[in-house]
Amino acid sequence: MTTQTQIPILDLSPEIAELRPEILAAIGRVLDRTDFIMGEDVHAFEQEVATYLGVKHAIGVNSGTDALVIALRALNIGPGDEVITTPFTFFATAESISMVGATPVFVDIDPTTMNIDPDLIEAAITPRTRAIMPVHLYGNPTDMTRIQAVAQQHGLRVIEDCAQSFGARWNGQHTGTIGDIGAYSFFPSKNLGAYGDGGLIATNDDTLADTARMLRVHGSRKKYHNETVGYNSRLDTIQAAILRVKLPHIERWNTHRRAVAQAYNDALQNVPGIVTPTITDGHVFHQYTIRVQNGRRDALQQHLAAHGIGTMVYYPIPQDQLPIYKGQYPTYPHSAQAAQEALSLPMGHVMDTTLIDHVSRSVQNYVR
Ligand SMILES: *Cc1c(COP(=O)(O)O)cnc(C)c1O
Repeated sequence: MTTQTQIPILDLSPEIAELRPEILAAIGRVLDRTDFIMGEDVHAFEQEVATYLGVKHAIGVNSGTDALVIALRALNIGPGDEVITTPFTFFATAESISMVGATPVFVDIDPTTMNIDPDLIEAAITPRTRAIMPVHLYGNPTDMTRIQAVAQQHGLRVIEDCAQSFGARWNGQHTGTIGDIGAYSFFPSKNLGAYGDGGLIATNDDTLADTARMLRVHGSRKKYHNETVGYNSRLDTIQAAILRVKLPHIERWNTHRRAVAQAYNDALQNVPGIVTPTITDGHVFHQYTIRVQNGRRDALQQHLAAHGIGTMVYYPIPQDQLPIYKGQYPTYPHSAQAAQEALSLPMGHVMDTTLIDHVSRSVQNYVR
């Protein structure tokens, strides 16, 4: 047996190798100050990220899931309310809606973008609909012009799930700053990842920002003056310190991700049975996801695994088919098909072209 390269779907070690001294110094400064909860770096990061995103308020929280939940609570969405979202996403999207006692209403995806199809939203609106929660899946911005148009016409609020789209832009504007609230995740594998859990709420609305800040600290604006049942959901100071080291690199990293996607597309776009993603403006390629047609997705995944190449299926089960929701929804044909065909290849913001060539050749060799 020859030793073969192991290529994980995501390798964080090159980034850590580059930034380790700065990261350790940043953590050291937190240790010196011992301001572990809501410390100096949290406030500084909130300001820096607000400036980067071009938004009035950035509020650090404990995770992307909490950002979604607190966003819904800030909009006073709860039992009896419906929120329209995509079935083709990570569970946290729908889970956040269920967590506040509201009902997720799914609308099928556009098979080209893999995002919620704005043309189908209107038909799903009922008197109970309060909000639309688009997800910028794989880092590909949803058509926010059309989402905002439908929302405004029907008096709905918009919460953008930006867990996969930090740095992505729609018409030059950052995702998460176009609707009423943006919710971001700093899970380590996301485009801007912490070295633990973390999340963020972005909004231009002063009242929503004030409510979100109150909710993240046990529903209190003033210590020991709790107004409502809130959360213990703060961004850790150590994670904020790490994120401050990483934020200045995000534009370069996202540019690299687009170049990796372009290199994959160049190698794979004429391979029969493979559909490559469109490189739209502002797409930040959290994942590089191909469609494998003719029922060959799982076999290709196994072939690549046998050649040391890690891939993932995001997502194998649409939300409406999960045990928690099964039987409560019709099926959504485009989401169902995407769950059968989607395959995400190794992607990262520090990725060598030789790795891209190796992965592309392995895909070509199998499919041909
Ligand atoms: C990762 C993710 C979340 C949740 O973020 P966490 O920080 O892990 O809680 C929500 N929605 C989507 C689409 C995600 O990919």
